[in-house]
Amino acid sequence: MNTPSSATGLRSQATDEVVSRLTAALSAGRVFVDAGNLDAYSHDAWPVSILENQQGQHPHRPDVVVQASNQAEVVRVLAIARETDTPLVARGLGSSVTGQALPTRGGIVLDLSLLIGEPELDEIDMTVTAPGGVRGSDLESWLALRGYTMNFFPQSLTRSSIGGWIATRATGQLSSKYGGIEQAATAYTVVLSDGTIVELSQKPRAAVGPDLRQLFLGSEGMFGIVTSVTLKIYRVAAATISEAWRLPNVWSGVRAMRSIYQSGLRPSLMRFYDETETRHAIPSYDDGGCALFLSFDSIGTVAEAERTEARRMVEELGGTSLGSAPVESWYSRRFDFSTVEKLLAEDGGYAETIEVAHLWSGIEPLYDDLKAALGPLADEVLGHFSHVYPQGVSLYVILLGRARDNKEAASRLAEIWRTAMEITTRNGGELSHHHGAGLARQAFIPESLGSQHGVIRRLKEALDPAAILNPGHLGL
Ligand SMILES: Cc1cc2nc3c(=O)[nH]c(=O)nc-3n(C[C@H](O)[C@H](O)[C@H](O)COP(=O)(O)OP(=O)(O)OC[C@H]3O[C@@H](n4cnc5c(N)ncnc54)[C@H](O)[C@@H]3O)c2cc1C
Repeated sequence: MNTPSSATGLRSQATDEVVSRLTAALSAGRVFVDAGNLDAYSHDAWPVSILENQQGQHPHRPDVVVQASNQAEVVRVLAIARETDTPLVARGLGSSVTGQALPTRGGIVLDLSLLIGEPELDEIDMTVTAPGGVRGSDLESWLALRGYTMNFFPQSLTRSSIGGWIATRATGQLSSKYGGIEQAATAYTVVLSDGTIVELSQKPRAAVGPDLRQLFLGSEGMFGIVTSVTLKIYRVAAATISEAWRLPNVWSGVRAMRSIYQSGLRPSLMRFYDETETRHAIPSYDDGGCALFLSFDSIGTVAEAERTEARRMVEELGGTSLGSAPVESWYSRRFDFSTVEKLLAEDGGYAETIEVAHLWSGIEPLYDDLKAALGPLADEVLGHFSHVYPQGVSLYVILLGRARDNKEAASRLAEIWRTAMEITTRNGGELSHHHGAGLARQAFIPESLGSQHGVIRRLKEALDPAAILNPGHLGL
């Protein structure tokens, strides 16, 4: 999706003035107004958007797509958008599964996939800094050659950008030890819509005013454009010990996670599957139990000691060991998304992933209510818990189904979203743990955020007074 063809074909509705100014401001071949590219950039990886594309529907079409390859070009494109009152939607690698980078009012899509360059390694402070368009897996591979890792592994590592991680408040599979992007990123640079360049950092902590690094996390391209990111790095762990466990039911597993985490242990991997998803996670295993995957990584013998402590807690809740093979197998296919993609490619096939979060005290009723209400809307409803905090946990629901045709599949997806969001709101849970708001959650945001939503509105007015950045998102 981020490899535009040449600027030929049907012209868009962008004014001649906007297109000719963009063409003059950017390197040759970086402005696209042909129908093929405008159609391609009107979709992302949101299943609703994928189904629309398959049906030839492009309701979120930009008027022009441009590619910036450095910060100065980003500043120039923003100036043109501002001076011509043209909406502008930043786009990383388009891996959003909630329609975050979809233009609601046409205008410019600013593709940042060429905002790349040689990373800067700091082996004293243990950080790496790279331009915002750099692909996560490219940076991880570059670090691996030097004996380091980010320990930040969203499932979309190979298809998302580090600037996108900031803008979406992303998290990774090892979050229980290494945290979400809010822990992983130490600094970043943002260009505001008026061209102001803001460098956000604390070295390593500061108490002069609030920590503004939080401000743009999850802002979904509505507050500014992220042009560079500094991330923590780690030496590759000397030892990783993994073990899968069988738990008799969902609640014994969730309690095992809580017990381990609240004891102060920090497994790098902590994933627990309900009965339905356990059949997918360990296909050879089907006795009605649920699977918990744990990994501990560390120097020396610490991982082994941590495993011993965790084992005692899991066994107290009825856990029995399934050995390390199921976890090793998961590592080998952990970036694979083909079950969802294959189903979406079938006529009438539909699939959705919805992740929410709640406190430990609220997660059980939320899980029960979601499973009961979503059950009739899909052939299978899978659930897992994979991001853990002392006070609560995320819940990730995967829905797989087949309808008569794509039209019926699309209306099923709309019903799924409505149901999931209403039930989560009613239970007082968080509408999204890490996939963000996008258009998928747009209608449900004001009620869910309550008084906080007014602050988002005021921030938007202050940071982007002309309201050109990604309008029609975050419930505004
Ligand atoms: C198979 C798959 C698995 C996934 N797994 C995870 C996961 O484990 N964890 C997770 O957190 N997410 C996951 N996601 C969601 C997605 O990959 C993340 O939200 C990711 O951070 C998006 O990055 P991107 O570069 O693709 O951004 P895009 O999809 O291009 O854009 C997303 C939003 O960020 C804004 N944006 C992007 N780049 C910038 C920038 N430089 N400056 C300002 N705004 C910007 C856009 O305007 C848009 O609002 C998954 C997606 C897929 C398809």
